[in-house]
Amino acid sequence: MLRAWRRIPGPPRDVVKARLLRLYRALARRFGPQRWWPGRTPFEISVGAILTQHTAWSNAALAIRALRRRRLLHARGIDAITEAELAGVIRSAGTFRLKARRVKGFTRWLIDRFGGRYEGMRRAPLHALRADLLTVPGLGPETADAILLYAAGRPVFVADAYARRVLERHRLLPPGTGYEDARRFLESHLPSDPALFNEFHALLVQVGKRNCRTRPECETCPLGFDLEMPLRNRRQQQSRLSDRVEREPRGTPECAPKKRGRSAGRRLSWTMAR
Ligand code: SF4
Repeated sequence: MLRAWRRIPGPPRDVVKARLLRLYRALARRFGPQRWWPGRTPFEISVGAILTQHTAWSNAALAIRALRRRRLLHARGIDAITEAELAGVIRSAGTFRLKARRVKGFTRWLIDRFGGRYEGMRRAPLHALRADLLTVPGLGPETADAILLYAAGRPVFVADAYARRVLERHRLLPPGTGYEDARRFLESHLPSDPALFNEFHALLVQVGKRNCRTRPECETCPLGFDLEMPLRNRRQQQSRLSDRVEREPRGTPECAPKKRGRSAGRRLSWTMAR
């Protein structure tokens, strides 16, 4: 009886989910808690997400401090000053006139829809809320998702360039995947948990800055283990087939074979050259 029960197949295992969670755990072990997003209130986080567009966080942080000194870090405060006055305060964030318009636009949206508070944003149907937020001029998907995740605590993955680069190099995403496809991929394979999305995104940014740069440093990277497994598995399959011609799939990360022997290196160069 027990043996018959054991033969009943279970639901198919999501191997991508298991792999993503392994990457997440490895990053968390190496880098520890990231405590994102730096901001004291949801409104400050939202303004920070707009001010850091196309500039380093350090510049945005200076502008945030200037706003705090003037006690303007709340929706009514921003709404009460003119766009020109706001631009003068946030100069350090770069493209300050444009960003002043965007901060004012977002603030007006927040006041019109939710009275300037975030409780309504936390309860609103997510799909419609995201579509509505994307109508605010100057708010692209990445900024809107950062506001939804970090300020409103909604389960939306910020699939920014750092995240996409890591996932592409690990062949979880095809090269050149766009923002929306990457976001959908992550959200469909991970548990819909804002705390997990928050930490995972922050960790991907961390590994993107430290290791996964234009020239990846896989030897010291906590995710190096994930590059080796597919190569090893393929090599075992190939030796079973006794096939003398290696057929590695295209797009193997350049950094993957560094720790391997000379023959593996030669085989990969041959593959990349095809
Ligand atoms: S540096 Fe290498 S191991 Fe690390 S995330 Fe990038 S491709 Fe992966």
